[in-house]
Amino acid sequence: MPPNPNHLIRFNARCPVCEQTYDMQHLRILGERDQQVLTYIDCANCSTAMLSILSISPQGMTAQGAVTDLTPEEVIDSEELKPVSAEDVLLVHQFLDQGGQPLFPRKTL
Ligand SMILES: [Zn+2]
Repeated sequence: MPPNPNHLIRFNARCPVCEQTYDMQHLRILGERDQQVLTYIDCANCSTAMLSILSISPQGMTAQGAVTDLTPEEVIDSEELKPVSAEDVLLVHQFLDQGGQPLFPRKTL
């Protein structure tokens, strides 16, 4: 079976906590740069939120996701309303590799 470009979206379309199918109408695109898009979706059932990076390359599309307790607004605030930068994307990749640290450090006032 040839790779379905949508299979990774489907892979991320279930809540990792309660396995409820995400309502893709809740999907928000928080930023994009080059061939990468940062998306946010929350579970209608248990409110678990997932940040995902979709990367589009000549080899196809990959998706990496991480559960977050930030709201979309907090994610955007932490980015000071700037578009997502390549540096941010690298940070997220590091986060995903390490699997634990806060994705975006909260501001200290
Ligand atoms: Zn859920």
